[in-house]
Amino acid sequence: METIIKKIDAENMTSGDFKDAAALLRDGKLVAFPTETVYGLGGDAFDPTASARIYAAKGRPSDNPLIVHIADIDELKKLCREVPDEAYLLADKFWPGPLTMIMKKADCIPKETTGGLDTVAIRMPSHPIARRLIQETGLPIAAPSANASGRPSTTKAEHVIEDLNGRIEMIIDGGSSDIGLESTIVDLTVKPVQILRPGFITIEMLKAVIPDIVYDKAVLKREKNDSVVARAPGMKYRHYAPKGELVIFEGEPDRVMDAILEASGKKLEEGYVVGILASEEFAGDYVAGISKKWPVLGTGNSSGREPYALIEVVGSRDNEETIAANLFDKLRDFDAKEIPYIFGECFPGDNLGAAIMNRLVKAAGYHIEKV
Ligand code: AMP
Ligand code: MG
Repeated sequence: METIIKKIDAENMTSGDFKDAAALLRDGKLVAFPTETVYGLGGDAFDPTASARIYAAKGRPSDNPLIVHIADIDELKKLCREVPDEAYLLADKFWPGPLTMIMKKADCIPKETTGGLDTVAIRMPSHPIARRLIQETGLPIAAPSANASGRPSTTKAEHVIEDLNGRIEMIIDGGSSDIGLESTIVDLTVKPVQILRPGFITIEMLKAVIPDIVYDKAVLKREKNDSVVARAPGMKYRHYAPKGELVIFEGEPDRVMDAILEASGKKLEEGYVVGILASEEFAGDYVAGISKKWPVLGTGNSSGREPYALIEVVGSRDNEETIAANLFDKLRDFDAKEIPYIFGECFPGDNLGAAIMNRLVKAAGYHIEKV
């Protein structure tokens, strides 16, 4: 099929901009759209066929439930069998925004949308294009991240085109997603309430509303052989992964830098191209260290002569928000150049750092070197 690419300017949009997208969604077809977290691949949440199409387009395992997106808090009562008080308290503080809540589903939500579960994940996004699309369609929109299953999530329309062109009816291009990491997921069906996926809304922020909230054990998992299974089905799969082998180095920043230089040198010596996922603070050190002996792509001493190092600056250690915003884009850049070995810094921290590390550890398939 031919995928229509529709540019919409959030600052200057009209009902007419959404006419075709809303008609497609009401007809059970798929439309990818920007949200403040990542791009979503949307379909009518009430339509089991639309959900089946979402799974097929992404190559997503059918036991991995979709998040249902709404634009009006009154929808909660319709979509959920029970709405606990915590849901309204959290919504009051964090909606519209990057928080997803799990509750018992009402019968109107088909099991195809919830991966066979009796619960449903609901979010009210804040991105003006996402909100308007839901309103103009007049339906709750089921939407997982708009990437091919297993690949890094998409934060720009170009990423969605890379993964889904020809597989879905429309992609709305509304520029880059500001946050860059998927929503925080909280499960309100258990006591104490659990965080199933860390995101921009941190545990500290959530504790202000639900003091006894805890992480699902799987969120803190660092070892592949650890037998803890994630309660969010999607979190148990290999995810966010670049095509090359990614290794994350964990430890004191200076030692991490030394270890990355050493690991890169070894692979370059063997004749392989290497990638480095670097912070702004250390990027210059990598360039200086590598370029003593090898070309560094994009620095003037390389014309793509192999083997070379590609150093991608993901953001500043002093500003975790920049790292979150760029992470998936940078991981995709390594894929574009088919880099076989990638070495990355760790970005520890209890707040946004927890979300960044959660994605990185999975992207690396739990390959973490402690230094
Ligand atoms: P994505 O939108 O691609 O980020 O994926 C949605 C995430 O939400 C996946 O990790 C799912 O496993 C999780 N999720 C969605 N619905 C539920 C649910 N009812 N219970 C637990 N996790 C869920
Ligand atoms: Mg996803």
